[in-house]
Amino acid sequence: MPPSSSTDALRPASTAGSRPVNDANRLGLDFKRESACFGYDGPITDIHTHISSPAAARLYFQAADDYGVGHAWTMTGLDNARRNTAELEPALRDRLHYIAVPDYAKRDDPDTFTTQWHKDLVSFYEEMGSRIMKLWAAPRARDFAGDALLLDSPNRLEGIRIAYETGYRVFMTHVGDPDTWFQTAYADAGRYGTKPDQFKPLEKLLDRYGDVTWIGAHMGGNPEDLDWLHAFLERHPNYVVDTSATKWQVRELSRHPKRFVQFVEAHPGRVLFGTDIVANDDNLTPPEAGGPETGGGYDLYASRFWALRTVIETDYAGPSPIVDPDLHQVDPSVDPKSTAGLRGASMPADLLPMLYHGAASRVTGHA
Ligand SMILES: [Zn+2]
Repeated sequence: MPPSSSTDALRPASTAGSRPVNDANRLGLDFKRESACFGYDGPITDIHTHISSPAAARLYFQAADDYGVGHAWTMTGLDNARRNTAELEPALRDRLHYIAVPDYAKRDDPDTFTTQWHKDLVSFYEEMGSRIMKLWAAPRARDFAGDALLLDSPNRLEGIRIAYETGYRVFMTHVGDPDTWFQTAYADAGRYGTKPDQFKPLEKLLDRYGDVTWIGAHMGGNPEDLDWLHAFLERHPNYVVDTSATKWQVRELSRHPKRFVQFVEAHPGRVLFGTDIVANDDNLTPPEAGGPETGGGYDLYASRFWALRTVIETDYAGPSPIVDPDLHQVDPSVDPKSTAGLRGASMPADLLPMLYHGAASRVTGHA
């Protein structure tokens, strides 16, 4: 690969072919060098991650440093949160914040999503300083824990009541899932409900807990239909969304990048930057290493920052570097290693400080 001129180096994917290929990096990008593609140099907060161990946190923050991300909010079980806090060096510990969740690693224990979760909510608040709690209510939550994880189950309503009384005033939800999943894994609407069905209990809770800020993860579960999402935000002033679940957002926002800009413009402070990076001890490949083929570690983390920042800030139009299994799932004739098309939205520069940092700052109260 010939050396790029300094102008070329500022274009996304100009390092293509310079590094080994893996599932997070089908284009062979040098993600470290690619980080110079982006013009915005203000603070960035990642409101949605799953960083589970001290080693994973160290590697996540290497990629975060390359991409200008300062603080991260993570969802991991209480044991992992305690271990991170005990073992991480103070400079990194101060950049990592905890969203209270049940301990999914203990999902075979029947108390995990019920009585133990109720206790963990209080422990997270008191010990870890958590001020956000997460309600994961994807349709497949039924396969995990029966009705216990439905948003309006008695168990969930009791947890919500405890969280509110403990002092939480920010709740994050995962409601819905990609349209592609409703076409495939959730085709049995009798079991999982339709996509619109998912949002009915959420709307009731948004009204009932009107002084709570609710973060709808993954563009509120509907990056496919930003008109629908716009109307939802208009109905519920206490609802904000995050940009997390990179593959899903890249695939769908790339279909209507201009609509995405209009949406962010119409809802100042109500779209938070988040990645949904999963950083754990299975994903510790450092930047200098090529593998594994599945794309773990530095490439996995950096690819999410790269892809989202490319969608948000640039006019790139080309393949995403990240394998998107949904493409094959929807159409088995498509190569399982396919990546989605990525079209940048070229978000006006004056929208970026709020999207990347200001919105999270307003919701979390953290500077
Ligand atoms: Zn997540």
